Amino acid sequence: MTCIETDVLIVGAGPAGASLGCFLTQYGVTGLIISKASSTARTPRAHYTNNATFECLRDAGLERECRSVATSKELIKFYRFCHTIAGEEISRSYYAGNDPNREGEYKKSTPCEQADLPQSILEPILLRVATQNGFKLRWDYEFLTCREDTATSKVHSTIKDLLSGQELTVISNYLCGADGARSVVAREVQLPFHDTPGGGFAVNVWFEADLSHLMAHSPGLIHMLIKPDKPQPDYCAIAITRQVTPFSEWVISMLAKPGIDEVTATQDEIIDHVRDLIGDAGVQIKVKGFSTWSIRDCYAEQYSRGRVFCLGDAVHRHPPFNGLGSNTCIQDAYNLAWKIGYIQKGLASPSLLESFNAERQPVGRAVVRRTNETGKIHAQLFSLMGVFEPDLTKKRKILDRLEEDTEEGAEVRASFQQIIEKLDAERHGFGVEMNQLYRSDAVWADDEPNPPPSFSNPEDSDLHYLESTYPGFRLPHAWLRASKATPNDPMISTHDLAGKGHFTIFTGIGGKAKWAHAAEKVRKELSVDIPVYSIGGEDYRDVFYSWSKKKGISEKGAVLVRPDRFVAWRHNGDELDTKSCGERLVKIISRILGR
Ligand SMILES: Cc1cc2nc3c(=O)[nH]c(=O)nc-3n(C[C@H](O)[C@H](O)[C@H](O)COP(=O)(O)OP(=O)(O)OC[C@H]3O[C@@H](n4cnc5c(N)ncnc54)[C@H](O)[C@@H]3O)c2cc1C
Repeated sequence: MTCIETDVLIVGAGPAGASLGCFLTQYGVTGLIISKASSTARTPRAHYTNNATFECLRDAGLERECRSVATSKELIKFYRFCHTIAGEEISRSYYAGNDPNREGEYKKSTPCEQADLPQSILEPILLRVATQNGFKLRWDYEFLTCREDTATSKVHSTIKDLLSGQELTVISNYLCGADGARSVVAREVQLPFHDTPGGGFAVNVWFEADLSHLMAHSPGLIHMLIKPDKPQPDYCAIAITRQVTPFSEWVISMLAKPGIDEVTATQDEIIDHVRDLIGDAGVQIKVKGFSTWSIRDCYAEQYSRGRVFCLGDAVHRHPPFNGLGSNTCIQDAYNLAWKIGYIQKGLASPSLLESFNAERQPVGRAVVRRTNETGKIHAQLFSLMGVFEPDLTKKRKILDRLEEDTEEGAEVRASFQQIIEKLDAERHGFGVEMNQLYRSDAVWADDEPNPPPSFSNPEDSDLHYLESTYPGFRLPHAWLRASKATPNDPMISTHDLAGKGHFTIFTGIGGKAKWAHAAEKVRKELSVDIPVYSIGGEDYRDVFYSWSKKKGISEKGAVLVRPDRFVAWRHNGDELDTKSCGERLVKIISRILGR
């Protein structure tokens, strides 16, 4: 059998596999990406791309390009419940950081705006970067089996060329299973799953239709359509419409009635239903594709076994509410990439990779929980609107209660408003998007006198982002100015100084000399480069006094940030002399890197 040797074999070229390949090349790591498909995603499933993902793309130098092909936040402003796209509107809310009450919270906490970036557009960008920087990519290759050779610490995978039928062996240092919700890699290495049966079934119709005449005042990420005047087919209790290209290309996801798990209708019948859902007979539609998917409530309890690491939908499967799927895939990849990168460069021990599971598994579990909870809130709303009522007269009556001048009407209105407001956890779930707190050996919290900060009301943790430099938190963003900047120089974020494959230290006036000395000691003893920036005057000015409120240390202290822009350690530094700073930093970097 033909045998190929490579550093990393990535199975899957979706958001998880493509971004892992892309991020690994930032560390000079290359390998082979295979996909059993013949191309990138043809249908635009994932689209909402959140701030945390854009931060990863920014670090990889891709933010500008991605933003240039994405739909801006302004054009995904609303989340509407209506009869049809052209028809009566029942409710409208702000979405995606567009709520005037929330906009400032987003703006002050991240250098990156969210946007609508369909995966069919993002995947080719990521794969282009991966392949231009050394990754090989093979379509029509299927992963079959794997085994780890304990003598050589290599993974032997059998893959099949689907065109010739020939089987090949790939020997790699790492096997990364980014092979989606039916992951064969996860099954092969017997990852344990927590799987709650139930879920539901949905049909996607992807089509072109010029709806610009309806969107001037209603641009939205989501238009939920309930079409109360006609019996709904079994495959469509409710329809979720979203734009792919404003306002000419769309996807309607039709959520089937409970208990339905297949479509028996013909494609023509489904297309007629799409026309009904648009609600404007004058609109021409051209269907581009159909697909089906099911709602899952499932996560792996463990993401890795030996040298096999799974990420993305391979380890977390959940409904698309909150738009977290692809975002979480890309952030899994971002977490994994620097660790493999440091090990491959000989800067870290393989034990660093234990932190991948410790850090990302709780994130996946939380995402599965949040999205399924959001699904349950939607179900409450659907019931209140009579979505599942088969009798049209009764259905209309249920809806009419929303406007009735009766005690019951007032109660229904109050419940409706309450549920709509609860759904803010989906529309503005900034917390679930940003609040990942990593606890692992790749973070040093032993010097902290207190437990990590948290919200007094746990519900806030999905809604709001809690910024902190407590070890394990995302580096807080603050806009800075270089000390010698001219008026024409742009502002720079703390995120722009961190990342780029490096650990980074932020200190303040009076701290630079000793932390630079400490960083030099680390460079000499461990060959790890750590740029040190003084914020306050020497290197950068904290012009908005934003960093001073977020930094959580004294001026001479240090915040040590990992290459993935999460805080590794912080110290007030006042009581440490130059020599102790160096010794302490060497000890901490050694522990984090498992050396
Ligand atoms: C309707 C809908 C809307 C969504 N909206 C959003 C959204 O707005 N935002 C968001 O973040 N997420 C969204 N998602 C979720 C998102 O689409 C998924 O989370 C994401 O595509 C998963 O990426 P992945 O790379 O893990 O897997 P996939 O995208 O499924 O890719 C799997 C890859 O593995 C390959 N593969 C599979 N098996 C093998 C094998 N045995 N051998 C070789 N190759 C194999 C496939 O060919 C493919 O390349 C949505 C999902 C749906 C259904």
